[in-house]
This record gives sequence, C-alpha cells and structure tokens, in this order.
Amino acid sequence: MLDAGKILVEDRGASYVLAKLTEAGYEAYLVGGCVRDAVLDRPIKDIDIATSALPEQVIACFPRTAPTGLQHGTVTVILQQGTYEVTTFRKEAEYEGFRRPASVAYISDLTEDLKRRDFTMNAMAMDGDGVVVDPFAGQKDLALGVLRCVGKAEERFGEDALRMLRCIRFASTYELQVEESTWQALLAQAPLLRHIAMERVRSELQRMIDGPAPARAVRLLLASRLTAHLKKQLPLPFERWLAWDDALDAVSALEGQHDRWAMLLMLLEVPADVIRTALQELTFSRADGDAVWAVLALREAVAATHSDPAPLERVWKLGAVRSGEAAARALLRLLRVLQPYAGQRGELALFLDTAAPELVRRGEAWLSEIPCFSLKHLAISGKDLASELGLQPGPEMGKLLEHLLERTTLGEIPNEREILLQAARAAK
Ligand code: ATP
Ligand code: MG
Repeated sequence: MLDAGKILVEDRGASYVLAKLTEAGYEAYLVGGCVRDAVLDRPIKDIDIATSALPEQVIACFPRTAPTGLQHGTVTVILQQGTYEVTTFRKEAEYEGFRRPASVAYISDLTEDLKRRDFTMNAMAMDGDGVVVDPFAGQKDLALGVLRCVGKAEERFGEDALRMLRCIRFASTYELQVEESTWQALLAQAPLLRHIAMERVRSELQRMIDGPAPARAVRLLLASRLTAHLKKQLPLPFERWLAWDDALDAVSALEGQHDRWAMLLMLLEVPADVIRTALQELTFSRADGDAVWAVLALREAVAATHSDPAPLERVWKLGAVRSGEAAARALLRLLRVLQPYAGQRGELALFLDTAAPELVRRGEAWLSEIPCFSLKHLAISGKDLASELGLQPGPEMGKLLEHLLERTTLGEIPNEREILLQAARAAK
C-alpha cells in the first residue's frame, strides 16, 4: 500500500489544523472517508477532522471558524487553503426513527468515536505524523477487498437503516465484496429501509448509478431486495432487470446520470408516465426527472407510431421536436449501447430489432435536417401572425404555429419568414 501520510504533505491546511489543535493540548486526527481514500491512494474529496477539543475550544484555536453543525459538535475551520470540518469525539447515545442519533455525547476517546462509524474502512483515523489508527482492521479488510460493518452488523443497520444503502454504494463504487455476516444482516434488516426519507434514498441511488460500477449496484440492489422496502412503494418491476443481465454491464458505457437512468428505466418496460411519477416519488429534481422521462417518452412515441410502412423518418423528426433535441440525442446514444442486446423477448426487444437499427444509422442525420426544435426558433411568431394576417392570440393561433413548426420539421417548407407567412395564409 502506498504512503497514506502523503495526504498531510499535499494538504497543508489539514496538517496545520491538526498541528494547531495538538499544540493546544488536544488530540486531533483525520477521520473517515479521507483516511480510507488516502490508504487506497484515491483522490480525496473532503477532509474531516475529529478532536478531543470541545467546539468552543476549537473555535478558540483559529481566527476564522463557522458554527456549521454545533448540535453534532462540528465547527468549520476556514483557512486560505480551504475549509475543514472539525468534530468533537462523540458517541451516539440513542437512535431514533432508524436514522440519526437522538442525542450525542462528547467523549475523550478516539476509539469510541471510531466505533460509531459504519464500516471498518470508514472507521480509521490518521494523526499529524501520518500514523494510521485502525482499531477495527479496516486496512486489512481493504486489502482483502471486503466491506464489513464495525461491530454487530444487525445492530448497526438497525440503528440507522441508511447504512444499508451506503453498504451497496460502497460495495459497488469501491468494488468490494460485502462480508458474509454484514450481508446477512442487511438481508434481515432490509424492511427497516421504509423509515428512511426518499431524499436520502435518492441521493444514495444517484451516487451508485453515477459511479464506476452501476451494474454491480443494480445487481446488489436486486439481491438485497431493498427496493421492495422503500418508504414510498414505487410501481416499478425492478426484477425485470434480471432478464437484461448482460445489458446492465453496458450502462457504464454511458456517461452522465441522465443517460444511465434512462437506460435502466427503459429496461423495465413500463409506460413513460409511470416512470415520471416514480421519479417524482423518488424526489428527483424536476430537471433531472424530465430529462430522463423525455427520452423514454420519445422512445415510446416512436415505437407506438412506427408501424410499417409508417415512415420512421417522419415519426422520428416529429417526436424529436416534441421531446427536444437533447432527449433525441440521448435516445440515440442509448440505442447504440443497447442494440447488441436485442433478441430478448418483449416490446423493447422488438423495438431494438426493428426501428432501432435504422435510427442508429440515420437518426443523427435526420436530426441535423431539422431547422428548428421549438416555436421560439420559428422564423415567425404570434406577433407576426397578428400583424400580417390579423389573427387574434389564442388556441387557433397556437395550432397554426404548431402546424408550421411541423411542416418545417418535415422539410416541407424552409424556416423562412415570407414562406411561413404564405403557408399560414393558405392554412388559415
Ligand atoms: P463519501 O464522502 O465518499 O460519501 P465518506 O465515508 O466520507 O464517503 P460521509 O458521508 O462523508 O462519507 O461521512 C464521513 C464519515 O462519517 C464516514 O466515513 C463514516 O465514518 C461516518 N459516517 C457517515 N455516515 C454514517 C452513517 N450513516 N453511520 C455511521 N457512520 C457514518
Ligand atoms: Mg465524505
């Protein structure tokens, strides 16, 4: 293993905070994720520091601090090099609602503080000299590629059910095997996930799917049956992913959350509107939810209207304008990745066999022929229709504009003001 202590050489701010607290007579250590990532020689995200100093003592040690989480004993130290969260050693007395401790108690012992942490690899500390304190053998587990709870796994998942999702996230993003008793405890405690707010669930799921091994995350989720125990029941048949097992590996070929979610959800073969509702239940942001939904809705529209000999080009262009250029390009990226996995049963497989190959071949070119994707970019506006044709604003005018957009989309007329006006007069 590489010299984990170099984190202190590279991050002068962190070593300064440790030195300052130590000089003042307190114990201070880097803890949690940053030590884990330093041991693994992975990029460090944020640095957390734990200390025996009480919050007011931490505040007294530094010229600039912010009381960011005083109720948990956390003070943020603000340096030129960056900000550092410094938390007083604590133990979490009782847990309430299977999430978050009901109260925290400050303590003076580092090991006690490490004991409340979720996994052995997250329960390591490093002092200012780069010496790793590792009472639960996290380094050994990392060397073995094993993810293990600190203490009794069943209790630890019982205290805070979110840890079960963190377990799957870490197992997938760090390519670890979940240690057997940890896994058994997760299976036993899975029903407790219903106590966890959907926001927290969503955030963990997003990190899994956005991570380096989304297929592994999906397989672990399926095996754990955690998705059957969400606070809000989702009307999604997750077990259908099993039928697409080989295609799951292809998800990592897609960059970006939206493409990955769209592909995974497409494999479930449920109507796009059901997906949209499920994404809302999962508290996806409006923008994220709509971006994913638009891709599925476009696929659905193309599949529904493209029955031979309905020309795919026409269906595709109109659909692309309705769903937007971004969704159309995303769908093409997905189909490129999914195409080799056709030949399975179901409506999606049929689509992959029929429309998809032609879309993959010609879809881009068809998109580039579309002069404008929205009324905003049409060379005439409602105002023009009012001044030139004497039309009143209203539904009729809206319909006329849509009609003109459709004709430009299909290449029947160019997106030019005079020609559009002429077409409007003829259609009126
Ligand atoms: P990442 O930042 O990559 O998610 P991390 O391990 O730093 O990983 P954080 O959520 O930043 O995770 O938490 C920092 C540390 O706090 C963890 O390493 C772990 O020691 C502890 N911790 C966080 N959440 C929990 C939890 N739900 N139960 C027990 N300990 C936790
Ligand atoms: Mg972190």
